[in-house]
Amino acid sequence: MIPPVRDDLADLEGYHSPQVSVDVRLNTNESPYPPPPAWRAALLEELASVPFHRYPDRSARDLRRAIATWHGVRPDQVLAGNGSNEVIQALCLAYGGPGRTVAVFAPTYALHSHIPRITGTNVAVGERRADFTLDPAEVERVLAEARPVITFLCSPNNPTGRIEPREVVDAALAAAPGLVVVDEAYAQFAPWSALDMVADDRPLVVTRTFSKTWSMAGFRLGYLVGPAEVVAAAEKAMLPYHLDTAKQTAGRLALAYTGEMEARVGALVAERERLAAALAGLPVDTWPSAANFILFRPRVEGVWKGLLDRSVLVRDCSSWPRLDGCLRVTVGTPSENDAFLSALTEVLG
Ligand code: PMP
Repeated sequence: MIPPVRDDLADLEGYHSPQVSVDVRLNTNESPYPPPPAWRAALLEELASVPFHRYPDRSARDLRRAIATWHGVRPDQVLAGNGSNEVIQALCLAYGGPGRTVAVFAPTYALHSHIPRITGTNVAVGERRADFTLDPAEVERVLAEARPVITFLCSPNNPTGRIEPREVVDAALAAAPGLVVVDEAYAQFAPWSALDMVADDRPLVVTRTFSKTWSMAGFRLGYLVGPAEVVAAAEKAMLPYHLDTAKQTAGRLALAYTGEMEARVGALVAERERLAAALAGLPVDTWPSAANFILFRPRVEGVWKGLLDRSVLVRDCSSWPRLDGCLRVTVGTPSENDAFLSALTEVLG
């Protein structure tokens, strides 16, 4: 007999983001640009001599060293995983679990609630203001009530695009009875990062990913930077040999192409500003974004489907908490953005 699934998993919805075939795919905040050809060539060359019959380096030492050097921290303050989602899962496995709580501030990245729930951890939900900024007083209120073992901040915040200013991170650190995790999946698009606040004696963890600015979503590679003690604890919750050799090599080699990465970021930020200016002239509400996507709320219904009918896919956020009628568009190439804008203009009539 197949046993019933865990009670707390039975009601949990899986992760939904439609993967449909369209001409213009602007729904998952990937980079529209492939990584540099020189990186691809270097990777293929190294892979040609990898001993694939052997397990990978279990502690991914070369990759960690490369990431640590790039951020000016020590390798024992870095932990890599299969996407930053796996890193978040390791934190929840190490510090969460039954009887423990994490805090999030809605609306925010759905996986900051979903992953804790999968690990049997309670989730306390605080509220952002109407403009989706976060009031330090609300952070203090939620932390005092819920006493969370992890407080998730997200800067820039997905899906709103807003930054968590330093004063919010400071307020969370001052009030937190546990870890403060700042998810910086989109930090390179933004004017500030909490990375330089990381220290062994501060309960602050910053997570990053290769999926966006590094144009490597297909590889699934992310990491955290935090106190060595937290890295060691989270590492215990990872499976042995979880990072395959190809991924470790890909990530290490990518860091030799930071100039190319920054050029892509610059181009996307310029396009973001062009998109934002164009949206400002249409019958939609928008919020300022420091990421590679823009949240907007059309003043008419049926826009998501209307765009899809024109082979443009954006993210439908309308069923997410506080996001009635909202859509999120990822910044694409100039021609993809043009296609999106003309389809949107047509749909809005
Ligand atoms: N954090 C945020 C805020 C994200 O938006 C995403 C991707 N949608 C992730 C983490 C996960 O990234 P990864 O591909 O590294 O798992």
